Parts: sequence; structure tokens; C-alpha cells
Amino acid sequence: MAQGCADVQLAPKPIRLQKEGSSPKPNNSQHLPTHHHQTPSISQTRDPTAHHKTFQPRPPGSGPTPTMTTPHSQPPPPQTHIHLAIICALPLKADAITALFDHHWDSSTYTKSPHDPNTYSTGTIGRHNVVLAHMPGVGKASAATVAAHCRASFPGVRLAVVVGVCGVVPFRPGHGGGGEEEEIVLGDVIVSEGVVPFEFGRLLPGQFVQKTDSVLDVLGRPNAEARALLAKLKGIRGREALRGKMIGYMEVLRGNKGLGAVYPGVAKDKLFEATYCHVGEKISCEDCGCDEGKLVPRARLEQGDAQPEVHFGLIGSGDTVIRSAEDREVLARKTGVMAFEMEGVGVWDSFPCLVIKGACDYADSHKSKGWQRYAAATAAACMKAVLEHWVPSLPGASCSALLPEMFADWHNQSLWRSRSSLPALGVG
Ligand SMILES: [Zn+2]
Repeated sequence: MAQGCADVQLAPKPIRLQKEGSSPKPNNSQHLPTHHHQTPSISQTRDPTAHHKTFQPRPPGSGPTPTMTTPHSQPPPPQTHIHLAIICALPLKADAITALFDHHWDSSTYTKSPHDPNTYSTGTIGRHNVVLAHMPGVGKASAATVAAHCRASFPGVRLAVVVGVCGVVPFRPGHGGGGEEEEIVLGDVIVSEGVVPFEFGRLLPGQFVQKTDSVLDVLGRPNAEARALLAKLKGIRGREALRGKMIGYMEVLRGNKGLGAVYPGVAKDKLFEATYCHVGEKISCEDCGCDEGKLVPRARLEQGDAQPEVHFGLIGSGDTVIRSAEDREVLARKTGVMAFEMEGVGVWDSFPCLVIKGACDYADSHKSKGWQRYAAATAAACMKAVLEHWVPSLPGASCSALLPEMFADWHNQSLWRSRSSLPALGVG
């Protein structure tokens, strides 16, 4: 969740999903999606009433990837065969994700652990049986509660993906091609190579109230399996494949009018100089008359390149609302983070996790909500593209045999991060 994006609830437009399948009792047989060798296979979104279309191969170059689904006669998998959890805040983000489900299971098939108040959607994305946990609110506390209950109810979950929107650092020196400056524009997606939790206080222009006594003494990174996945995706071929898939899924989401996943336009991607603050009380810079002479030019936008890119790096996570470009730059310089969000650190305590967030604003005083829906869509599209590359070492029920090893690795990371500290990074 972008800092400051959290406090506005956009009224979600209803989305008609394909009808949920029948829900016989789970059994112990192998339950993997029947279509996982078909590429790509994505959910029915343009014609939600036709919930059993047959996959039709398309010739190369025949246009955007169509929305489709395959007949799915198998019953829902046993509860322990669901090995991927998706956690997101706000209905508009969940809408973009469920729109990319390949199949939907009847979630009433599954039981919940005692006192679990969560609401879940279950289904498949590619080869994965997934459970989407709907968060009642935003922030790390809500995320932590949801994740803890989800872990109790779905003990087979091996990886959680936290999906949503974030505020970003617009430039990363030395990370672009040839060691040049890397530009991050709105709608780009950030994939976490690590999560830096922090509670420094509230960051406002000209007023930085620091709470050094509450700085969480941790620095987290994904577990070994997730790091190996990221290493593959960061390569040239991996990036190209990821970007191509992501653009295809964005076509699907754009076709669903209820999602509002349309690119707002280069002219609406405004980055002001870090020292120039929002001039009025209203949210819109246009309404307040912010000086466009203070806008910072970006090469990608001047070239008219509006396609979202994927960036890999550290993400700052906490309840701190960042509305100051100058402090954004200080934090980026001292911690190396390239984005700020509010849920990842909460989930980290329950699951090994990846954070995948769409750039919604620049974490400055000019931020608005205009990019929320598009950024939520690019993050969802990127999530599905990333998951296509994640091959669990043992799928389905057998994966539970690896759980102790997986969680041991995750636990070791927790110990490692507990020995690290933000002050050691120069913060505080
Ligand atoms: Zn402004």
C-alpha cells in the first residue's frame, strides 16, 4: 500500500467473476490444474457468463492474449495442497488478482481454524493452487493478523505473495543499463529482494519526527527458493519473459472495464523536484496550481514509453506514512529501499514472502489516488507472470515434506535479519 494511498477507499466497481465450480469433498489424490502445460491460460474476464470455454490455440502474432479458461472437472484440492497465499489490502487490489485466476474453487469447501475471521477466495493461477486472503484494512498489524490466521487454516502454504501498490523512489543511481540511473515511473512494478521494516515516525515536509526507540531491528529477505527465482527473473531472458507475460495479462485486465486498469497517461505522471512541496489543501496538483515548471523530466516518459517495467530491490515496509520527497530521498540513500508500502513486514512474521507492488505515487506531498487502479493491475499482472516461473520442488501434497526445511531456511533468515539493524545501515 502506498503511503497515503491507504486512507482513501475508492468505491470498488463490482466485477462478475466466472461461476464457482462444484464443491465435492476434497480427497487425497493429486490435484494440480489440468491446464498447466497450456501457455498462457488465463481467466475468463470479458465474458464472465461463459465459464467453460475450451482453450483454443492462437497463431503467433494474432494480437493480445485472449481471455480464456479451460474445462475443469476436477474437484477442489485438499486444503493441504494449497501452497500459495496471496495477501492484499483493499477490494480493488483483490479484484485485479481474482480476475487473473484461471479457476475459482468454492471456498466454502475449506474449513477455517478456530477463531479465523478471514475471508478467502480459492482457485488456481497457472500450476498453483492458491488462497487469496482478503484484508479488512491496511497496514502491518492487519496484514500480520490476516497472515497468522491464514497460516493456521492453510498449513500447506509455502510462500505468500503480498500484492498491491506502493510509493516509489523515482531514481536509482547506478542501477540502469550500463550503470546509469534507473528511472521508476508510475505503473512500474517493484519486486522485493528484501523488506526493510521501520517505524521512524511520521515524515512530513520540513518536519521529521523520528522515533529511534521503536525502530524494528530487522532486515528481511526472501528465502532461498524465492531468491533463486528472483535470480532467474533478473537475468536478461528472465526480464524479457516477465515483461512480455505481464503486458499480456495487462491486456486481459484492461478488457475488464470494472477494474479501471487503463493507463492514465504520460501527462498525468508528474514528478516534482524534491524540494518543491504541494501548494494547497486539495489533493489534485491541478486544482491547487502546483508549479509545473518544477517538474522533473524523465527520459522514459519523453520517449513515450508507457509500458510498465519490473524492478528488483529492497522495499521499506511499515505504518509510517511518507509524504515528503526530501525524506524519501534520505531513506533511499541510507537504506537502499526503492519503494514504501505497509503490509509486507506484517506478513513476514508468518510466511516466507515476496512483495510485489505497483508504483502508485512518489511518496511525496503531491501524491494522489489517480494511479491506484492501474498500479494495482500492473502488480497483479506481474504477480501472475512471476508465479509462472515458480516451480515448487515438490508440488501438491508432497510439498508438505519440504515444509520443515523451507521454514528452517526462513527462520534462519529471521535470525539473520534480527542481527542486522537499521542503525548499522546508517539510519537513526
Ligand atoms: Zn502538488
